Amino acid sequence: MAMRFEPDRTPPRMSTRERCFLLAFLAFAFSVGCVMLNGARVSRIGEIEGKLLGIPAEDPRFKASVIGAVDYDGKSYPILAVEYRPPGGASYSVLNTGGVHGDEAGGVETIYQMIRECALEKSGALERDFILCMNPWGYGYDKRDNRDGIDLNRDFKDFRSQEARIVAAFLKGRKYDLVVDHHENSHSNGFSIICHEEGDRSLASAIIRESSQYGVATKTQRIDNYEQGITILGLGNGKAFSQYAGLHLCEANRSFIIETPTAWDIEKRIRCQLDVERKLEKTFFL
Ligand SMILES: [Zn+2]
Repeated sequence: MAMRFEPDRTPPRMSTRERCFLLAFLAFAFSVGCVMLNGARVSRIGEIEGKLLGIPAEDPRFKASVIGAVDYDGKSYPILAVEYRPPGGASYSVLNTGGVHGDEAGGVETIYQMIRECALEKSGALERDFILCMNPWGYGYDKRDNRDGIDLNRDFKDFRSQEARIVAAFLKGRKYDLVVDHHENSHSNGFSIICHEEGDRSLASAIIRESSQYGVATKTQRIDNYEQGITILGLGNGKAFSQYAGLHLCEANRSFIIETPTAWDIEKRIRCQLDVERKLEKTFFL
């Protein structure tokens, strides 16, 4: 009887060189995995943009446009702005921005909700500009920075990023009475207001007291002068404050950032953002 060939089932031992190759491959795979495109986010932003671009056809008070597109390796990521002009004119103008940090989806959803609510107003008393998502690549990949690793919120002085240059071109020559940038904070346990001027501390404090039902931040990281939900960017080592879009580009009389915790459910984040925004507007304009 002829002997059957039995394959050798002993696993081959890896050489040091092969082990190094495998480790390098795993490291590469891990890093690629960290920048995976998030399909749910891509379809969500596409849905929002489609709806916003359709608004002016039904409501002439609005203009919606792609103000520029970020290009990475031939792939294009548009940045969308919506402008609202009340037919009777307005005494004040407001700019709201979202998505400067791509992993903070709550800001983008807040801007979308603000535009929808604005469309329901019979005659809005304020002139409004909205930039939906300043970092569209970061939004799609769920990353804070842009693809080149630039934190856009520190780039509105040097303009190294395509995104900051597109936003700057749109804002050139525009002046606002109030600018609010909508953010999230993954380290915080409650909402907070970031002011660019020490003089705004008492009004931020009053709004925080009135909005305490949401839960005010009592601890966070990486922010200076943090106290009872308020940060003053102009103090401490806040040299970066001049690089923030709101203050540096728009010559705004008032410039704020609202931050809600990423850990909150999305409805609560939007509700809190809208409420604090309304209170800021009421303080200055009503
Ligand atoms: Zn942020």
